[in-house]
Amino acid sequence: MAVENNSMGLRNLPAVHQVLGRIGADKLLQDIDHSQAVKIIQGYLEKVRSDLIEGKVNNQDKEQWLNDICSDLKNILLQRKERQFRRVINGTGVILHTNLGRAPLAEEALSAIVEVAQGYSNLEFDITSGKRGKRYDHVRTLLRELTGAEDALVVNNNAAAILLVLSSLAKNREVIISRGELVEIGGSFRVPDVMAQSGAIMIEVGTTNKTKLRDYQEAVTEATALLLKVHPSNYKVIGFTESVERSELVKWSHSQGIPVVEDLGSGVFFNQSGQGDFFGEPTVQKVVASNVDVVTFSGDKLLGGPQAGIIVGRKKLIDKIAQHPLTRALRVDKLTLAALEATLKLYAEPEKAKKGIPTLYSIYRSLDELEKRAQAVAKIVRDFDATWKIEVEAGNSQIGGGSLPELALPSRILRITSDHKSTYQLSETLRALKVPIIGRLHDKAFCIDMRTIGETEEKELCKMLQLAFEKMESCQKEGTNNG
Ligand SMILES: *Cc1c(COP(=O)(O)O)cnc(C)c1O
Repeated sequence: MAVENNSMGLRNLPAVHQVLGRIGADKLLQDIDHSQAVKIIQGYLEKVRSDLIEGKVNNQDKEQWLNDICSDLKNILLQRKERQFRRVINGTGVILHTNLGRAPLAEEALSAIVEVAQGYSNLEFDITSGKRGKRYDHVRTLLRELTGAEDALVVNNNAAAILLVLSSLAKNREVIISRGELVEIGGSFRVPDVMAQSGAIMIEVGTTNKTKLRDYQEAVTEATALLLKVHPSNYKVIGFTESVERSELVKWSHSQGIPVVEDLGSGVFFNQSGQGDFFGEPTVQKVVASNVDVVTFSGDKLLGGPQAGIIVGRKKLIDKIAQHPLTRALRVDKLTLAALEATLKLYAEPEKAKKGIPTLYSIYRSLDELEKRAQAVAKIVRDFDATWKIEVEAGNSQIGGGSLPELALPSRILRITSDHKSTYQLSETLRALKVPIIGRLHDKAFCIDMRTIGETEEKELCKMLQLAFEKMESCQKEGTNNG
């Protein structure tokens, strides 16, 4: 009976040309590609047809079908006009948000990308000699000068860097690592898995909270290729803990002729004035100076550059790594190199770096400034719709990207609440806008942390909030009318 009913319903479904006629009249969709639109409409109608036959949707009259189908398809086609991968405004206060693309790039890096991408470049061409050159040479000197290392190589990301270092220096041999450093970073990167993939044999020593020099000493055999230290980026073991001082470990290891490799995770070139460290993190320079043989770190964490895995260290080892076939598979592209070189150049002058590299700029914004920016935005947004309450309150931003998990940077939050309206719905509406605003829902309030909102984004933020308020208001009206 139901099947018969539904196949009767098929006759009520509109034809492609009917839908096209109705949708084509829409001003916003006048410039849409005709053949693409037909394909999308056909696909959609087929889906409705099969849903109807399977009884997933109920039959309706002809006019109702046409209305519903056109309204859905209009939204689908409008969305198709926008690029799928696009900019969002980060109101989460997480500076290196992996899901939101980690580090925004400096102006200088952006222009370098545009310049190199627009035409041809000397990517692998030595302009002086007119002969073939190496892509890695464009950043090698800068990296050597900045870090004090003998040599440098850059690959796709830091995970690739570790895989490459282990594959080229330790395949079928033993790598000693402290149990306190067998970390998982962001779901898909686990040190033991990467180790297995590289063909190295992992020798775990010590315990989660304590590893002593003696533990390393007892694990050394003829087959030992290297000692690996991994920064436990996204967590910290506190309390009854012990680990071996880097310099002590290196000194002993070198006396045995065994190199030390360190995965620093987030590499910083920067120390806070008067300290050798950056919020307690050693700089790359410091780690290199303590004679670690190979150091790897990310380009798009605290460094504030493009996604890349940077490997610096002793020339003999870097040469060996560069010759491994995986280097070709993991190589960086020209856009990354352009952005990385431009970012590294900014580090020549620390004050320039602090202002020009957005990651550092965000970290160093003062509470006074954030308070001013938050008040300015709140003042504008309050005028839009009195049913929303806009307050400025104290909160904390995070570095993110698995860097400095314990560090909370005091910030100012735009707190949006309403007695009658849903902040959950507000967050959904804001995400559906042309420039999506990503914030945090906390205690029935929609919160926007001003630290990760650039001054140039403030106008847009206000505009999007106004649009969202209007959209919700008109939806509510429609709802009332229908009811
Ligand atoms: C983030 C991180 C990685 C992975 O770096 P990607 O550049 O994201 O590939 C590896 N090791 C440590 C310790 C990290 O913190």
